[in-house]
Amino acid sequence: MQKDVNLIQELVDLDKKHFIHPTSPIKQQQEQGAALIFTEGKGVYLYDVNGDCFIDAMSSLWNVNVGHGRKELGKAAMDQMNKLAFNSCFSTFSNEPAIRLSAKLAQIAPPGLSATFFTSGGSESNDTAYKLVRHYWILKGKPSKKKIISRTKSYHGVAMGATSATGLKPFRDFTNSLAPDFYHVDNFSSQALRELIEAEGSHTIAAFVAEPVQGAGGVHIAPENYFKEVREICNEFEILFITDEVITGFGRTGKYFGIEHYGVTPDVMCFAKGVSSGYLPLGGIILSEKIHQDLIELSTGTLLHGYTYSGHATACAVGLKNIEIIENENLIENARVMGQEMLTGFQWLQNNLGIVGDVRGLGLMGAIEIVKDQVTQERFESPLSPLIVVEAAKRGVICRAIVFDNQDTLVFAPPLIIDKTEIEKMMSILYDSILTIEKQQE
Ligand code: PLP
Repeated sequence: MQKDVNLIQELVDLDKKHFIHPTSPIKQQQEQGAALIFTEGKGVYLYDVNGDCFIDAMSSLWNVNVGHGRKELGKAAMDQMNKLAFNSCFSTFSNEPAIRLSAKLAQIAPPGLSATFFTSGGSESNDTAYKLVRHYWILKGKPSKKKIISRTKSYHGVAMGATSATGLKPFRDFTNSLAPDFYHVDNFSSQALRELIEAEGSHTIAAFVAEPVQGAGGVHIAPENYFKEVREICNEFEILFITDEVITGFGRTGKYFGIEHYGVTPDVMCFAKGVSSGYLPLGGIILSEKIHQDLIELSTGTLLHGYTYSGHATACAVGLKNIEIIENENLIENARVMGQEMLTGFQWLQNNLGIVGDVRGLGLMGAIEIVKDQVTQERFESPLSPLIVVEAAKRGVICRAIVFDNQDTLVFAPPLIIDKTEIEKMMSILYDSILTIEKQQE
């Protein structure tokens, strides 16, 4: 690609002046300009204005599950837009893509989950879940059940409810007033959940929400029995169990939904990201048939919750085509198999580098911890993972550093279409990048 220096400068200048980036170091943007300005995507690769090529080892934001540049999704969007781009689904209006997608979701979701409320993303899905479960308890004659319990290191988004539920403190501290009635417990202790319920009184608690694998908090995988115990506790205390599958849904972990690894079924499931692989904004929550039926039977009027774009015809058409691709190309199985390759690669890095601590993964969600001492797992005073991310980008891999909660962790979530050669390339670049930073510590 011919590099157009003037065009690049123009874009950098306009970006600084007019584009407030989401979750981004605002000063750095002014001082250094946009880190990368992308122009194209194909498969696991992204290309920028300089013509440089990168393995998108994060599927951008854990979401481009079927990879970049899928013409089928562009065509699905165009066909639907040319026919009917959008109609209101308020009142009882509907459209075929939303109807068919909700039916498809009922077919692929864990057993018992049968009815979908659509949103445009994960934060809206979480806020919707919190509101609807509270509304449910009002209808059930238990209006005092309104507290939502979530976990430390969790991330549920940036809408007001989602921010309040998020366990990563910096996100909550960003603003000076949060939604009331949100509580946090230790991320892997079912006993801590039980104790909090007993302390607060189960008559005050509406729901418990958890990501099957914590993503933005640093890819933390629950102990084997954790979710079984959680499910039992929720049953015992009549508390609804919400899983936030915004990252873990649609094959990411090697199963359709992350909670399937644990053999339990939630009452409500939040989804977004992988449902459309990011080609259009789409999300939602799936309710159990029982809750859905109760809402129908007990409702006395209008369900007063709805986004303009709930059931967006074009977004739903893309969602349907995206799921068809995931199924036709066997991408869930590929995520499982390539996830093992990725983990083997991480272990190789651990064996061959001095600063790689714990490595972990489930399907194509993985993490590498950076440590000063591999035996004691002692961390560096100042985290090195952000420096490694820069080195990796220089060499053609995009990954992410997690430094919240005193962590120093690199996280990965490549597209589900990734193959063995691409994983090997990714590991080779990671090796060089980590080694460069390791040598600087000597
Ligand atoms: N829930 C989880 C588990 C997420 O990882 C995210 C985003 O990363 C969200 C919710 C929020 O989704 P969105 O950014 O689409 O609002």
